[in-house]
Amino acid sequence: RKGWLDRLKAGLRKTGSSIASVFTGTQIDDALYDELEEALLLADTGVQATQRLLTELRRRVKESKATEPAAVKALLADALTELLRPLEKPLVIGEHQPTVIMVVGVNGAGKTTSIGKLTWHLAHEGAHVLLAAADTFRAAAREQLGVWADRNMVEIVSQEGGDPAAVSFDAVQAGKARGKDVVLVDTAGRLPTQLHLMEELKKIRRVITKAEPTAPHEVLLVIDGNTGQNALAQVRAFDDALQLTGLIVTKLDGTAKGGVLAAIAQERPVPVYFIGVGEKLEDLETFDAREFAQALLG
Ligand code: GDP
Repeated sequence: RKGWLDRLKAGLRKTGSSIASVFTGTQIDDALYDELEEALLLADTGVQATQRLLTELRRRVKESKATEPAAVKALLADALTELLRPLEKPLVIGEHQPTVIMVVGVNGAGKTTSIGKLTWHLAHEGAHVLLAAADTFRAAAREQLGVWADRNMVEIVSQEGGDPAAVSFDAVQAGKARGKDVVLVDTAGRLPTQLHLMEELKKIRRVITKAEPTAPHEVLLVIDGNTGQNALAQVRAFDDALQLTGLIVTKLDGTAKGGVLAAIAQERPVPVYFIGVGEKLEDLETFDAREFAQALLG
């Protein structure tokens, strides 16, 4: 189960931005804090979260009268865990039938793969899942979702060249009629022409609410953990437009630096329901602030 921690650590070592190396010296001095600041920024932690962590760390070091860099590292792990803690929240289903989950994100973030993994995860918990292919602009997107539906042996609502909002509406209706526990709506990550993505997604959101007044119950944004501060910009933009309820952060097994989660916790604390740590069905983990902080510090 802990394989992802090793993969995350390996990814951090690969990029050479390891924060761990800051604590290999013998003294706690300004040079240590300077190096740490640089390492945190290189790990995508962002200016605000980095400053907050450093201020908090200096306070804790003073209070604990620590004399060894290793002790400072442990205090940083505590401070980082505390910063990340608000992101730790489970995805709860069962309150509504069906729970309608709209999944959004830019192309390439890992949205389709994450929907496949999430379907597997939910099915394992005994939920009956229905997929909706509301990215009707790209035939490949529809086909790819179909592959994940087959792999998971779940039904899919799909319509060649159809209207994304209409497909979403039909899927929610079908989910209600067929007694499904979850309807997962895959949306477009990019549109072919002048149409604005956010307007299209807002329309899907409105139409889902027409089909079921309490829905959507969740609006999940999938972001690529490799894209650093750009991922934070995406969280802001999608949250402003759609009122996000959760995030899935993908590709944390590769060359991602991981610090972006601290930036998100600082600037737009949308819960991280899951992290993606590989391309296989089971490579989806729930987010644990303590584990993540420890992996990040190497
Ligand atoms: P979409 O355009 O957002 O739907 O993105 P896809 O789901 O098609 O994923 C884009 C690429 O990222 C594919 O090659 C996936 O296999 C890969 N991918 C998605 N999630 C992860 C992950 O957590 N780890 C790794 N290593 N690759 C991932």
